[in-house]
Amino acid sequence: MNQNHSIKVGYVYSRELLSVSNQLPPVKGRAILVHQLIGAYHLFDNCYRVQVDQPLDENQLRKFHSIEFLNYLRQISIDSDKMDDDDENDQFGLNYDCPPFSDMFKTIGYLAASSIAAANAIISGQCSIVLNWFGGWHHGHRDEASGFCYTNDIVFAILTFLENGFDKILYIDLDLHHGNGVEQAFVHTNKVLCLSLHKYEFGFFPDTGHINDIGLFRGKYHSINMPLRNGINDDQYIEIFDKIINRLIPKYQPQVIICQCGADGLSGDRMKSFNLTSRTYLHCIEKLLEIRLPLLILGGGGYHHTNTAKLWTLITAKVFGQKLNPNIPDHEFFLYYGPDYDLSITESMLPNENDPQEYNEKLKIILANIEKIP
Ligand SMILES: [Zn+2]
Repeated sequence: MNQNHSIKVGYVYSRELLSVSNQLPPVKGRAILVHQLIGAYHLFDNCYRVQVDQPLDENQLRKFHSIEFLNYLRQISIDSDKMDDDDENDQFGLNYDCPPFSDMFKTIGYLAASSIAAANAIISGQCSIVLNWFGGWHHGHRDEASGFCYTNDIVFAILTFLENGFDKILYIDLDLHHGNGVEQAFVHTNKVLCLSLHKYEFGFFPDTGHINDIGLFRGKYHSINMPLRNGINDDQYIEIFDKIINRLIPKYQPQVIICQCGADGLSGDRMKSFNLTSRTYLHCIEKLLEIRLPLLILGGGGYHHTNTAKLWTLITAKVFGQKLNPNIPDHEFFLYYGPDYDLSITESMLPNENDPQEYNEKLKIILANIEKIP
């Protein structure tokens, strides 16, 4: 099935993982749409399934989360009346974007386990590329749920690579929002380099990811933040991405790349911010594939559910070297894709606030900082 037989692709899936992901309040019903569309194109029929049979237990979750946070999640799982305690909920970020729900403990255990399993499939040499559309929760903190994220599976994946001797891990975040949870977890280390391209505007969540945030102490120059404005289009995004990657890869020489493919930068997303189509994401993934390093591809944001399903299906096909018929195949959710029943995602009339002179100045700063990576 693969064009190159030396490349083995893994697809993270288990029925339990799909079930808990599909119940996540901020993206309820999204996981099944994604999985069924990929299945309708028969993309994972012959690939290696990365199984996730067990959620992490408390000991394993403590590698990142605080005891207080985990205790509270467990209490809610046992006693659902606790869910109405707004003060305690607030303390752990369980409000607005992240409402509490009864299966939280098990759910975060499965989500974290999914990206650990993906990392292990690469570490063991079983796969050189792994797709985990259930992962990508980049805002999760040690002791707080935040921005639709109850845990941070990416941090767990990176910790797994670190524990297994990897010491040059490149994390790339294509989500509309800044990858703050991941950056914060590794801001002091030079073993992980976090690159995030995101919308940066006063008052826009999470309000971090300024171009001058470049990492701290030993981690200096190991955080790269490219702030963007509303309405960015494919051509501009691709130009910026390529310029950074062309300079960064030879300089940093990573051993493994993790790419979060949050789909909320797509035109038509509920966030109404960027004006990207699948062309941008497919270009970025193709560029990363050309580097021929182990690659872990993750999901993330994406609040126009059918567009998110289309994008992640297209990326899955790209990884398998398959060309897809643009007509959505008949399957359980076929009617969701009306009126055109087509895989394409088109640009909107959203005004573009990105001035080439301004972003080129920022790029100059970023490229100069890349040269300073020791
Ligand atoms: Zn996002």
